[in-house]
Amino acid sequence: MGRVVCLECPECHRHLPADRIQTVCEGCDSPLFARYDLSDLAQRITPLDISRRPSGLWRWTELLPVKDDRYRLTLGEGDTPLLPVPRLATSLRLEHVYLKDEGVNPTGSFKARGMAVALSRAAELGVRGVVVPTAGNAGGAMAAYAARAGMRAHVILPGDAHPAFRVEAERAGAHVMAVDGLIDRAGQEADRMALEQGAFNMATLREPYRVEGKKTMGFELAEAFGWEAPEAIVYPAGGGTGLVGLEKAFDELEGLGWIGSRRPRLYAVQAEGCAPIVRAMQTKAERIEAWQDASTRAEGLRVPRPYADRAVLRAVRQSGGTAVAVGEEELADAVAEVARLEGILLCLEGGAAVAGLRRLAQAGAVRPGERIVVFNTAAGWKGM
Ligand SMILES: *Cc1c(COP(=O)(O)O)cnc(C)c1O
Ligand SMILES: [Zn+2]
Repeated sequence: MGRVVCLECPECHRHLPADRIQTVCEGCDSPLFARYDLSDLAQRITPLDISRRPSGLWRWTELLPVKDDRYRLTLGEGDTPLLPVPRLATSLRLEHVYLKDEGVNPTGSFKARGMAVALSRAAELGVRGVVVPTAGNAGGAMAAYAARAGMRAHVILPGDAHPAFRVEAERAGAHVMAVDGLIDRAGQEADRMALEQGAFNMATLREPYRVEGKKTMGFELAEAFGWEAPEAIVYPAGGGTGLVGLEKAFDELEGLGWIGSRRPRLYAVQAEGCAPIVRAMQTKAERIEAWQDASTRAEGLRVPRPYADRAVLRAVRQSGGTAVAVGEEELADAVAEVARLEGILLCLEGGAAVAGLRRLAQAGAVRPGERIVVFNTAAGWKGM
């Protein structure tokens, strides 16, 4: 049973009740984050309790927002493989590189984690219809869990999204709409649909619970490394939920006393054609400005302005990491290299992460001897 105490705005520290539907902080437009009574939980559960449970992200139920188990939705998400990739490591002149393969999640991407938890909680709070603006994977995942929950689903895609994303959402019974423009334009349409159809908006970090599902990636990593953080995590960032989720995961585990205070350095990788996080890191800005004419084939990274900009930048900076951008050819080459060396078919975003890792290794930001985790966020066949 989940034990959320309240929701908190990380900017003005206002607390809001978690037992009703919430979106963002009214005062600062910041996302809201779920808070748990960690010292109480530390008395009730141990790492061993969690490790002994059947696999999947609901193993972490006390640290998730769903109160009544009957509302849990699952398609088998979470507990994805953490694969050593020694041949890739050698090619990068590194030693201990691991690939967290999120492509094996239901619906073929890590968006399943966030949607499993967010739709379960929404169902528990009485939501009957949901809408999401999406580059593709979030729409497919939301449609699938909405089907499980018997909810109405509206999926809003950029007009040039891969046709497979439309088919996937439609098969699961969602109403799919394409807009003329990118994800920000889809976002405006989702706001309109939310008002018009009374559907709850599941846009990235515009509701508090998708990040709760995503943080389980961090829990799994800590557990896999014997309740320790790896030295570095390389992550292909779009909206930045994963980065914020990873930071939150390690914070909560430290709060429980299950890990020490050492944190993994978080490295955000973006595409050169849409690198607003990289630019903000370089200019030491606290807010992210919209990237004009965003363009990259890695559609999950084509987010001109991450909504949770302050939280994303803080997560990267406080970890001691940074952000790097890679070119289109580089990310495609990385996909080919990993398939050839390791037999793993990455998505283009995963290719970007590996290409980013190559740059970080060349710059000496990550070193042999360190344990480095690189994320593949979706199955390579999804965008083929
Ligand atoms: C959504 C998405 C991303 C970006 O994820 P965030 O955690 O929101 O930054 C990366 N890769 C793929 C395949 C995605 O679908
Ligand atoms: Zn606030």
